[in-house]
Amino acid sequence: MRQLLMVRYGEIYLKGLNRPYFMKALVKRVKQATKEFKANVWLHDARIFVSDMTDADACMERVRKVFGVHSVCPAIEMEKDDFEAICVEAEKMMRNVNGTFKVEARRSDKRYFMDSPMINRKIGEYVLERNEDHLSVDVHKPEHILSVEIRDKAYLYCQVYMAVGGMPVGTGGKAALLLSGGIDSPVAGYMIAKRGVQLISVHYHSFPYTSEQAKEKVLDLGRILSQYCCGMKTYVVPFTEIQMEIHEKCPEDYTTLIMRRYMMRIAEKIAEKEGALALITGESIGQVASQTMEALQTTNEVVQMPVFRPLIGFDKADIIDYAKKIGTYETSSLPYEDCCTVFTPKHPATKPKMQKILEGEEKLDQEALIEKAVNEAEIILL
Ligand code: ATP
Ligand code: MG
Repeated sequence: MRQLLMVRYGEIYLKGLNRPYFMKALVKRVKQATKEFKANVWLHDARIFVSDMTDADACMERVRKVFGVHSVCPAIEMEKDDFEAICVEAEKMMRNVNGTFKVEARRSDKRYFMDSPMINRKIGEYVLERNEDHLSVDVHKPEHILSVEIRDKAYLYCQVYMAVGGMPVGTGGKAALLLSGGIDSPVAGYMIAKRGVQLISVHYHSFPYTSEQAKEKVLDLGRILSQYCCGMKTYVVPFTEIQMEIHEKCPEDYTTLIMRRYMMRIAEKIAEKEGALALITGESIGQVASQTMEALQTTNEVVQMPVFRPLIGFDKADIIDYAKKIGTYETSSLPYEDCCTVFTPKHPATKPKMQKILEGEEKLDQEALIEKAVNEAEIILL
């Protein structure tokens, strides 16, 4: 008999012939996530098991953050032939539980000497007889479910901890996240990574206008994301020269938009280099001047790659709730400046004229500026 974690997967069950591929990817991610706990991870009988970890609680918390995992149950695994022993363990498990319960048996071994209703009844009676003062049976709406799975061994568990869901990272390709120090972009990255996409991130840093702490804050956000994303390669791109050039040579009302067009172009270059197929931003319609429909059109059209904006229809309050849930809100709220806020025009164009943008951009040596920024980017593995 031993204690282990039984890891249940979510949407992968919808897969047909591809399921083994997704399962293999999920096992790899669970192994990676539990490495620090020296856990033993294996796939057996369409379930993933984790055992022998150094810190069971911390290890479970970690597994709950692995995309593709639906839920995690701390379980007991034992030989299935000694039914009396199963009853004894079931009783121990329910001894400290109060309220209503039912036993829910599942038999994948159809040759087992009892069918599921019989197992339910026998274990239910055994548990109830010994705990009548604090437990009663309710088969319709029980507060607790004692699950008994009869596979090649017997598995018992009564607690199910929900996990993040989604798909295993890497099964959905790769994309480049434009990561600022704000609230939105980490949430946007999380949402796309949750669909199985491996992230790389790109951050624009305007030293000395933006401080070393501002960069550290973004890297901290990247580290939080990286836990979910199984590692994230991050490009910190020096952006001061480009911003200064724009500031000097372009019409003031258009500086933010032109700067954002540069961000998109550089991110696409980096994405291409890294084999990423899409860009991700935290934009949402109408949130700021550069996110009106017209403004988004002007920043969108400088790249060929699809741009994913998962927050496009979200209210700020909803994004904040999401950020709190995934644990990025606190760091995002720290008061450091972003390059977007350094040279903000007084009256940014909300209905930009393309002619004006192009006139401004003509004065810049676009190719050289972009090449230099990409080449001088600092690459950090988070
Ligand atoms: P918030 O709106 O919460 O301040 P934000 O990250 O959404 O944060 P915005 O100014 O709204 O910031 O920028 C829109 C999007 O542009 C961001 O979601 C992000 O994808 C990208 N972005 C902005 N600034 C940077 C930056 N310094 N580096 C990389 N991407 C950036
Ligand atoms: Mg924003």
